[in-house]
Amino acid sequence: MSRFVRNILDRPGSANIGPFQRLAAQAGGHEERIGALTDLPRPRMDDLAEFCAIAREAARRTLDMRPFDVQLAGALALLSGQVAEMATGEGKTLSGAIAAAGHALRGKRVHVISVNDYLARRDAEWMGPLYEALGVSVGWIGQSSTREERREAYAKDVTYGSVSEIGFDVLRDRIATSAGDLVVPEPSVALIDEADSVLVDEARVPLVLAGAADPGADAPETAELVRRLSRGYHYELDDQGRNVFLTAKGTDAVEKALGGINLYEAPDVLTRINLALHAHALLTRDVDYLVRDGRIQLVSQSRGRVATLQRWPDGLQAAVEAKEALPASETGEILDSITVQSLIRRYPEICGMTGTAVAVEEQLREFYGLKVAVIPSNKPCVRVDEPDRVYGTVADKERALATEIARVHATGRPILVGTLDVSESERLALDLGGKGLDCVVLNAKNDAEEAAIISRAGERAAITVSTQMAGRGTDIRLGEGVAELGGLYVIGSGRHASSRLDDQLRGRAGRQGDPGGSVFLVSLEDALITHYAPDEPLPAAGDDGVVRHKRAAYVVGHAQRVAEGTHLEIHRNTWRYTRLLERQRDLVLEQRDKVLRGDAAADALAKAAPGRWNGLAADVDEPVLKEAARQIVLFHLDRCWTEHLGFMSDIREGIHLRALGHKLAPLDEFHREGVAAYRNLLEEVERRSVKTFETATITTDGLDPLESGLKRPTATWTYLVQENPFGSAFDRALKRLSPRAKRRQDLD
Ligand code: ADP
Ligand code: MG
Repeated sequence: MSRFVRNILDRPGSANIGPFQRLAAQAGGHEERIGALTDLPRPRMDDLAEFCAIAREAARRTLDMRPFDVQLAGALALLSGQVAEMATGEGKTLSGAIAAAGHALRGKRVHVISVNDYLARRDAEWMGPLYEALGVSVGWIGQSSTREERREAYAKDVTYGSVSEIGFDVLRDRIATSAGDLVVPEPSVALIDEADSVLVDEARVPLVLAGAADPGADAPETAELVRRLSRGYHYELDDQGRNVFLTAKGTDAVEKALGGINLYEAPDVLTRINLALHAHALLTRDVDYLVRDGRIQLVSQSRGRVATLQRWPDGLQAAVEAKEALPASETGEILDSITVQSLIRRYPEICGMTGTAVAVEEQLREFYGLKVAVIPSNKPCVRVDEPDRVYGTVADKERALATEIARVHATGRPILVGTLDVSESERLALDLGGKGLDCVVLNAKNDAEEAAIISRAGERAAITVSTQMAGRGTDIRLGEGVAELGGLYVIGSGRHASSRLDDQLRGRAGRQGDPGGSVFLVSLEDALITHYAPDEPLPAAGDDGVVRHKRAAYVVGHAQRVAEGTHLEIHRNTWRYTRLLERQRDLVLEQRDKVLRGDAAADALAKAAPGRWNGLAADVDEPVLKEAARQIVLFHLDRCWTEHLGFMSDIREGIHLRALGHKLAPLDEFHREGVAAYRNLLEEVERRSVKTFETATITTDGLDPLESGLKRPTATWTYLVQENPFGSAFDRALKRLSPRAKRRQDLD
């Protein structure tokens, strides 16, 4: 093909895989020679065909798997820094390991990033012998790894870990007070499994490091107050149910209940009311969270998993606890945070693999500069994907779902039902149980246990009900005689907010050329349609509840596209705001590093307060004095950064009011304030450090941090925020305009 034609065919953001396929084919030419060697040579990375041949032979000998050409092509795409799209079951674990080994042999340190701890450990242990044969060391980290184990794992050439564990280590390192405490080495290559989920769906998720502080004491009263408000009269939801705001009537009622205050002159109170309203009106028990053992457990929206260590930003967590009349859990001050996107962008080289990348090609290019390489499957996919079955009402859909399960189950064919949330799974299980149909339900509470369960979902007559992506990454093999019955039958109980999630669910059937089928049951009352296509005229259902009109398919697809577009806009918007903070964070960390590893603090203090320095230097040994200087500056740097974060989030919350006054675009205003605040931050660090240095008692034993007022938080902990605090707070802030604006109109 001429270069000209290829350039036309080569869509922007999508890579040409021809060279990878040719190299994979050439590897076949070396196979016999290399297979005859007793000891495998260490691959040279300047001959990729030979590298592939050696990796293939190593995998055959150690794992009893001979990588297919397509797996080698996938590994080469990863080695050249792209996202490889390879369908479920094509063997991405092996492709990824070959690529990670290749990066390591090029002298890079590789982090293979998995979606959960269970997969990180499984893959590191499974691929361990292959790495060893290639002369590459490998380790893994998980939630329960100790500091020492983590440091050891990060010292390997290749380290497997979940995005949150790696992120938390990065955050903890950022408050280390001695260079010897650092755990994570300089980032080099990130190889991301289920790349779309990490890079797109979870991109905005902040990983948070918090330190002990006072809990939100008045949350219960506020919860009681908003409980008395009525939707439609006191407050409204926006079209998409993402935001809630007080109406003018609601504002009046709240102001009266609070003794006649003006809410818009009491931003703290307004924030608390908004948080309580958010908890009351937007978060639904059993959909967004569960109450178990007297605690709130969050349900992850993109995965339908119960997320054990995760919590909302503190105000919201306290509001939900108050709503459910639970005692307030310990809350804290956010010491630092990083979004998944920023965490990944720290790596100079990024690559990834997933079954569904093409649909997010644009985002991958825009946010990470990545291209997608579409790798064909090893065997053609013969799964039968039926068109959606559309019903007028949820009740009709649920009845049809149970009937369909019973019908197919009678043939012995295994069924995997993908539901949209935990409560739906539990309702369905109850319903099926009543009909004498036994099923297993996966709510993603325990990744290891669920992996074991879902791996049996392909056995004869199995019925497995799973929330969205529970058990993701686990292989479903067909039981004996199941292929003859048509293979695994996947039923979606509703279309997801993104077609990628639908495709991930379908992909659980028909792996590696297996037979299989999939169908989605949809109702015109599903949240996807009522939220994202509320104004579309809906075709009528027949007497049997089925909607046969062609328009039904259009409405469903349209709602999904609107949902996807909305999420992309939110992603973009969040990124616009976080980018400034990330840049500032980088600059502060650069300074911090000089203080931590060098004498920057001593130099600065000696220069700023020479009299004091010389006075102390007469009695105190230089290393002790330098260490005292280091601790003083580190403390104030960290303290000021924490305050800066809080300040910036306040600006963002309050931005609408100022924007209204100044007629500036909110983003410009945010930047203007943010840049000014950052300038103050550096001056403030110096001012406070000099002050402490002048007044603290520094003896030959060094500095007493407590006595000098340098008290660091006694306890720190980490969590993920499911609902982005910036994003949602910002959206809420925008919506808060409404009652105010309406009110002004009323007065005019
Ligand atoms: P993916 O992550 O792409 O969904 P996995 O890496 O989990 O797929 O692999 C799916 C299954 O395919 C596993 O059971 C694995 O053992 C098997 N497999 C992968 N590559 C090969 C191969 N080259 N030969 C035989 N089996 C393979
Ligand atoms: Mg996988």
